[in-house]
Amino acid sequence: MNEFSIGILYIVPTPIGNLRDITHRALEMLKKVDIIAAENIRHTNILLQHFNIKNHLILMNKDNEKKQSDNLIQKLKKGKKIALVSNAGTPIINDPGGLLVKKCHFFNIKVIPLPGPCAAITALSASGIISNRFCYEGFLPSKKKPRCDLLYSLRKETRTIIFYESKHRILESIEDIIKQIDQNRHIVIAREITKKWESIYRAKANLMLQWLKTDKYRYKGEIVIILDGFKKLKTQDISEKTFNTFLMLRKFLSLKTSVLITSQIHEINKNILYQYVIKKESDKII
Ligand code: SAM
Repeated sequence: MNEFSIGILYIVPTPIGNLRDITHRALEMLKKVDIIAAENIRHTNILLQHFNIKNHLILMNKDNEKKQSDNLIQKLKKGKKIALVSNAGTPIINDPGGLLVKKCHFFNIKVIPLPGPCAAITALSASGIISNRFCYEGFLPSKKKPRCDLLYSLRKETRTIIFYESKHRILESIEDIIKQIDQNRHIVIAREITKKWESIYRAKANLMLQWLKTDKYRYKGEIVIILDGFKKLKTQDISEKTFNTFLMLRKFLSLKTSVLITSQIHEINKNILYQYVIKKESDKII
């Protein structure tokens, strides 16, 4: 740590809808710093005016971050205190600022993060999906092929998965979740959190899609998707339908082949099905 560097970068989260969610400390910082680096000047000015704060704003968005972060580093090196804010929520989390923070570490400039609103964590807390272990994926790719590839790669992810999504793509994304992951996977749509039309829906993916499709107001506004993680199949989860498929095949095929084909038809683990069948056999049910 460079003891002579007295400039500090503060990461200041701002509300994701309800302005009363700003913290005392965030307001204090926005007042006392020398400069506020904002993703959008007009947007941040509305916030500052609401709280009667006057301060010097500098634009730093994804288009000018590379150049502007060098400029801000020079100011920090001269001892300036700078607050970084985005349009809503925690800066850096799918917002600009990551490069500036990286450069601060490189130049031994102190970075102080303030806790505060973040749509992903707020949605997760109300999802009713186990959330001690989760991963954050940000926005799904807008193009179909990379989106499907990514979802396919996540099909066995056991942690809860968080996505940000836009109202324009939400139906397609859920369709792809159904195709690439599982139609029965639990999904939560957290919409317009902290705002007037806040709503949190939870259902299996296929039912969620049908339900959303019947009314476009159900997916209007800003959205976070929380997707339950992959659950390892246990023998007690083998359905009657799966077992009936096995019994039918078993009339004509060997045990091994019947298990293999059934597991492929129902997309389940063949070893678990095998254990289940053996147990049934030992219980003399077959
Ligand atoms: N940095 C922000 C944070 O900490 O949440 C996220 C910025 S990202 C550019 C914006 C996305 O966050 C939106 O498209 C939406 O997916 C999600 N989001 C932001 N505010 C939200 C809200 N009030 N309700 C639901 N989702 C929200």
